[in-house]
Amino acid sequence: MASLRSRIALALIKKKLPEIVAADPVAELEDGLHVAIVGSGSPLPDEKRGNPCVAVIAGGKVYVVDTGESSSETLNRMGIDAGRIELVLLTHFHSDHIGGLGSVNLQRWVADGTDSKMKVLGPPGVEKVVAGFNEAYELDCGYRTAHHGEDFVNPETGAMVAEEFPVPAEGETAVVLEDDGLVVTAFEVDHSPVAPVVGFRFDYKGRSAVISADTVYSENLVKAAKGTDLLIHDALSVELLMMVANASTEAGLTARGSILTDVTDYHATAPQAADAARAAGARALAITHIVPPLPLKGLEEVFLADAPERFDGPLWLAADGDLYSLPPEGGLKRSNLIRRR
Ligand SMILES: [Zn+2]
Ligand SMILES: [Zn+2]
Repeated sequence: MASLRSRIALALIKKKLPEIVAADPVAELEDGLHVAIVGSGSPLPDEKRGNPCVAVIAGGKVYVVDTGESSSETLNRMGIDAGRIELVLLTHFHSDHIGGLGSVNLQRWVADGTDSKMKVLGPPGVEKVVAGFNEAYELDCGYRTAHHGEDFVNPETGAMVAEEFPVPAEGETAVVLEDDGLVVTAFEVDHSPVAPVVGFRFDYKGRSAVISADTVYSENLVKAAKGTDLLIHDALSVELLMMVANASTEAGLTARGSILTDVTDYHATAPQAADAARAAGARALAITHIVPPLPLKGLEEVFLADAPERFDGPLWLAADGDLYSLPPEGGLKRSNLIRRR
């Protein structure tokens, strides 16, 4: 005999399930440009934040920028149907930005309503990365078609297609996508010694958002982000990361201590992200790719340091699930797609 608690749980889930399964928050969004933070963390394990991934939504279509590990799970938790993914754009090929690419493609492939190969746009190198994921998933695609049938999982569309674009020259930008009123522009940023790395600007119906990718303070970014409604910028706290690095070294974990120390020189700090937002004349700033993890709320102030004094507009530390909505008539609305559910 099932316990009272399990019978109540079963009754509740039966009642809620149709609503959960049919939920499509993207369909409910008003027209405009929407930016959803899927993963706001970094490669360092962080129970609150996934690896980097941003979903830009315009005209009911979803454009995914970077696919860190856990991207497809978090998109699912946010209620963003993988079948709505139009394509993926990659900023660079660090593992924390590509680890979830195979899974995002798989979820899109098996989603209702998709019957095309997923395109992956990126700078030189994208073909190698996509070919590698396609090869790694080839057996799995075969199993799924054999099991579920070609009507539901089309063997012709299981593999992704890479589309490479050249990196724009210093100080220049290049349009890499135009789709139903959405214009996506790429520009090079500075994450040296890693190259190529590009950021993206999205323009739709008079509103815009810029995604920095991984970079130190970059004049190229400032130029490309001129007057943007929302700048999404990476940031790292040297003070906090060096505490972790030193503790690692003292605990005898010399490789970890040394690697963490190296990381401090190729990301902006929060004050530098604020400087970039101010110099660009951005209207709002969301800081993401947060390094290191901030397990205590009080550490957020330490992480931001004097960033709020350096930038006049609204400034947020992004969280997984955050949605920034930019309607054509102006303004910015902020909500969270995970907490809303
Ligand atoms: Zn990187
Ligand atoms: Zn990164």
